[in-house]
Amino acid sequence: MTQQHREALWSAALHSAGRRVTRQRLAVLTAVDRLPHATADDAAAAVRAGLPHITVQSVYVILADLTDIGLLRRVETPHSPARYETRVGDNHHHAVCTGCGRIEDVDCAVGHAPCLTPEWSPGASRMTIQIAEVLYQGLCDDCRSAAHSRPPSAPQE
Ligand SMILES: [Zn+2]
Ligand SMILES: [Zn+2]
Repeated sequence: MTQQHREALWSAALHSAGRRVTRQRLAVLTAVDRLPHATADDAAAAVRAGLPHITVQSVYVILADLTDIGLLRRVETPHSPARYETRVGDNHHHAVCTGCGRIEDVDCAVGHAPCLTPEWSPGASRMTIQIAEVLYQGLCDDCRSAAHSRPPSAPQE
């Protein structure tokens, strides 16, 4: 998809959410699209490279608003500030490396939400489940090989 095509889709989505199409909003969408799982600070730095007059605070406000109207998805992972992505609406999940914090997309297990059916504990009041947010945690290949190549500790005698 060309940048022009993407901007046309974003503009249409902004319109239908009752937002004006501004350079600032398009710049935030472009930044997050190029840096999937960007933190707000990553996104602000990228936006400010092209639009130096926009404040970091304005980028934060735009990120929150674009998340509210469903053009961005906000991802919460442990030990990290929230991250943003333009891949929305497909119920995908995330895997995070507990070594270096890198995050990767994992496709939804069954293709639609909720992809897990709860086994209710005895005594729990049941709910109608809409979303199952799954976070896979492990070690990426880089962190795993770094852990393996560490010299074995000398036996204590
Ligand atoms: Zn890692
Ligand atoms: Zn993602």
